[in-house]
Amino acid sequence: MLLKRVKAKNIKDSRSDWTIEVSVNGCKASSPSGKSKGKYETPSFRKSLNWNIKILNSLNFPNINISSFNDILKVESFLKRKFKLKNAKQFGANTLFALESAVLKALAKEKNIQLFQLFPKPKKIPVPVGNAIGGGLHSHNKNKPIFQEFLLIPKEKKFKDNIKVMDSIYQQLKKQVQTNEKNDEGAWQTPLNNEQVLKLLSQQKNIRVGIDAAASSFYNNKYYNYRNKQLNTAAQVSYIHSLIKQYNLFYIEDPLQEEDFQGFAKVMHSPKHLIVGDDLTATQISRLKKAIKTKSINAMIIKPNQNGSLIELKQIFDICKKHKIKTILSHRSGETMDNALADLAVGFGADFIKCGIATKWREVKLKRLVEIEKSLK
Ligand code: PEP
Ligand code: MG
Repeated sequence: MLLKRVKAKNIKDSRSDWTIEVSVNGCKASSPSGKSKGKYETPSFRKSLNWNIKILNSLNFPNINISSFNDILKVESFLKRKFKLKNAKQFGANTLFALESAVLKALAKEKNIQLFQLFPKPKKIPVPVGNAIGGGLHSHNKNKPIFQEFLLIPKEKKFKDNIKVMDSIYQQLKKQVQTNEKNDEGAWQTPLNNEQVLKLLSQQKNIRVGIDAAASSFYNNKYYNYRNKQLNTAAQVSYIHSLIKQYNLFYIEDPLQEEDFQGFAKVMHSPKHLIVGDDLTATQISRLKKAIKTKSINAMIIKPNQNGSLIELKQIFDICKKHKIKTILSHRSGETMDNALADLAVGFGADFIKCGIATKWREVKLKRLVEIEKSLK
C-alpha cells in the first residue's frame, strides 16, 4: 500500500476539547487526551494542534510502501529526516499515534482484513478494568473522593459476560452513590469519601476491586493531601497497605507520586495484587526499565498517546512479557469515538483493557471487543 492522501483536521473529544483526526487513503483515526497527565509523557503536539494539522495537510509523503505493521517505521524515519528529529515522537504523540493508526487501518482495508489481524496470532481477549466511581481530577462535584478511579475487574471467562457483570454492578451503584451525575470517564460522581466508596465496592459479588489513586494529583510539598489528613511517604505506603488488606484490593494504580520508584517498591508485597504504574512509567521504555530494575511494579498502564509511536508500544509489550509485568492498554479521560484501542489490545496481546464502562465513547471500544471475541471463535 502506498501512503497517499494524508489529511488532518481537528475534532472535539468527549470533554469537548479539541484533538486531532488523521485520515490516510480515506481511513480515519484520532487521538484522545488526558487530564491527569504524567510529567514524563511525550508532548501531544510539536508546536500546537493547529501547527500539526497544517503541516500534515501540506506534507508530501514520498513513495512510502507499507505492507506490514513494522513498515510504520518507514513513516517514522521520514518524519525524523524531514523535521530533523532525534525520535519521531517529537512530532507530537497525539499526531503520531493518530497518523500511525490511520496507516494501519488503511493497510488492513487494502488487505481486506481487520485491524487486529495485522498482528501475528492475535488470540487473547483482554479482561476489562472498568471505572465505576470517580473522584480526583476527573470529577467536578464539590465533595469528592480524593482517589481518581474506583475500578471493577470482573472474572468471567468470556469478555461479553465480563461486561455484563461490570454493567450490572455499575447500574446498582447508581442508587448507592447519592448522585446520578457522571464524570469525564462516565463513572459516577459522589460526595462519599475514598473509604466509603471502597466499602461499597467490597460488598459487591463476583468482582475484583481496584483503584487508580493518581497520587501525583494530591501530592504537594512532600505530603499526600486527603480531606482530613496529610500523609508523608511512609504513612502513605502504610495507608495503601491497610486499604489493600481491609478492602481486598486486587489492582492499585499510581499509589504514590510519579517520581517515587522506591515508594512503589515498598507497596509491592504479593504477586496476588497488581501494583500498576501509569504516571510513574508514562508509557516510556526508559521509565519501564527503571521500574523493572527497582522492582517497583508488576503491572503497567500503556496509553498509546502517552508515547506516540506504535513501534515503541510493541517494544513495551515485549519487555513487559519478558519480565512478567501485566499489561493494561488504556483509554484517556477525554476520548474519541475511535475504537482502534480494542484491536490494538488484541493485537498486542494485552492482559487487560481499561476503557471505562458507560457513555458512547467507552462503549464503542467494549462493543468492538465483543465483536472480535465472536470472530475469534
Ligand atoms: C488515568 O490516569 O489512568 C487516566 C486515564 O487519566 P487521564 O487520561 O486524565 O490522564
Ligand atoms: Mg492512571
